[in-house]
Amino acid sequence: MIENRVKVAVRVRPFLPHDCERLDGKRFQHYLETCPEKGQLIALENYCFTFDTVFPLDASQEDVFNTSVYPLLENYFSGCNATVFAYGQTGSGKTYTIGTCDPTLLEDYHHGIIPQAVRAIFKRKQDIENINSSSELVVMVSHLEIYREELFDLLNPSMIKDLSVRDNENGATIVKGIHKIRCSNYEQVLECLRNGSASRHTGSTLMNAHSSRSHSIFTIYLEDNSGVRRQD
Ligand code: ADP
Ligand code: MG
Repeated sequence: MIENRVKVAVRVRPFLPHDCERLDGKRFQHYLETCPEKGQLIALENYCFTFDTVFPLDASQEDVFNTSVYPLLENYFSGCNATVFAYGQTGSGKTYTIGTCDPTLLEDYHHGIIPQAVRAIFKRKQDIENINSSSELVVMVSHLEIYREELFDLLNPSMIKDLSVRDNENGATIVKGIHKIRCSNYEQVLECLRNGSASRHTGSTLMNAHSSRSHSIFTIYLEDNSGVRRQD
């Protein structure tokens, strides 16, 4: 079990050409230095902030996944909710890190957090089913967008007005009416992710004031139907 329920990791993306223009000739280190061994960020050579994890600038998508997300899978497979939340200014690298970019735009797409998590989930599911042939784990996904405080079902874009946030009988917060799609493999989940991402109000490359008003939640549900009696 994970001790702390919430952990904060900071990833500083590498320089892009337009950053250099803004830096006005100064070195990047004048503004921000990462100190991964101490989990610290040093801003303006003076202000130090400590987090659970600070990734070095050259951290790979695999480093980020293995350190910050893979450990959540154990709890996930024992029935707990696990959430990965990417927070940051537009252009800071959320979409890249989470892996919801348009695959035609970005080669690294298949290495973002969601694609890696999906691969790990199906591998573990397969391992469980190999050990216990009567186990029946079902994977379903949903993709929700919150845009200007309104909810949109990205996997069922025509039904845009019928969603509402509710507490269910177990006290969990759910989105009533959201469409869940059952998926049997990695490709099917990624197709849902691609389709949902394409239906969002802002594209991943659109850097304007509106993009910060669009938030999306991709949920991967794992249901254990092993004990459920079949109807057929
Ligand atoms: P956000 O979703 O936070 O607005 P993006 O994920 O779209 O930001 O990233 C902005 C730009 O930076 C994109 O061109 C993306 O490819 C690039 N980028 C982000 N993180 C990295 C990284 N770790 N390595 C290389 N390029 C990155
Ligand atoms: Mg984005």
